[in-house]
Amino acid sequence: MKLLILFLLFTVSCSESSQRYISNNSIKLFDTSSEITITDLKNHVGFLASDELEGRASGTLGDEMAKDYIKKFFKDTSLPTERKVEIQEHYVPAERKWDLKPEDMTVKTYNIIATLPGNDPILKDEYVVIGGHYDGGAATAADLKKMLGGDKIYNNADDNASGTATVLELFEKYASSNTNKRTLVFILFGGEELGLLGSKYYVENPTIDLDKVQLMINLDMMGRLTDELLYVGGVTSGVGFKEQLDVHFNKTDMNIDAYSNTPHAEDRRYNRLFQRSDHYNFYKKGIPCIFFFTGIHDDYHMPSDEIDKLNFDGIQKIANLVDSIVVEFSSNNRLEFQEITE
Ligand SMILES: [Zn+2]
Repeated sequence: MKLLILFLLFTVSCSESSQRYISNNSIKLFDTSSEITITDLKNHVGFLASDELEGRASGTLGDEMAKDYIKKFFKDTSLPTERKVEIQEHYVPAERKWDLKPEDMTVKTYNIIATLPGNDPILKDEYVVIGGHYDGGAATAADLKKMLGGDKIYNNADDNASGTATVLELFEKYASSNTNKRTLVFILFGGEELGLLGSKYYVENPTIDLDKVQLMINLDMMGRLTDELLYVGGVTSGVGFKEQLDVHFNKTDMNIDAYSNTPHAEDRRYNRLFQRSDHYNFYKKGIPCIFFFTGIHDDYHMPSDEIDKLNFDGIQKIANLVDSIVVEFSSNNRLEFQEITE
């Protein structure tokens, strides 16, 4: 009897979500400019962090909708520039587990990948990867709901609709200008909140030769620039990397905490920050990485992580800094990986 009830529940919920899903196959894109504008960033975050997507937890309808939006944007924007768009399906657990077994991987999510070929006959065979996670914290939201009660939606605007929107805007800029010498690979990962699982899947099943990656840039929580303080991790993961980056850091009016593994903040929550987002799986493969982040705040993994608290001037400023770094590292000499220290 229990089985039958479960079965019925399952079919009802499936048909419900597939009905809603079909209606969402017609996701519409906003008109966007080829430049990185605040209006475009707001439109992307507005959609991704809307109640309709219910926080984009892996395996939910909101995850499907976010994936469709990203895929459509990668395919349709700045045509006719050549690009390759790929979707990797992968499986993650329904909630965060520390000791993951293969049978726990029951929920489907995605990595969405757009590749823009470089315009240099030799350098086009090397890559700069620009990524971020598009999922929101399923497990955390469920845990907090149990603790706090209530049905509030965790829209995860800073974490990480902000980084997702920036990856999209950078893609659009390069797709429209096609000025990159090395090939650029834009990846939006699912399953980050469940243990960096999208990037783990990617480095185990790469779409490019990982030995030819010059640099991986990760954008995770870029929306809360406060007192102009920006954390940039991994700056010693290449030989001479820090010195090359300093040229770019010195050109901005932001106050940059450039660190290797742990930022210089007193706050213990920043301990080993560099190990806590998707770039870390690339780092473990011997690839130089940097990680952009505007800091932990009271709304982190809370229902109050909403779009109205984001500093869009700040996101644009960081996006411009990332842009200048992409321009240099998609054309300069090859960086040599080195292990980071504290
Ligand atoms: Zn995040």
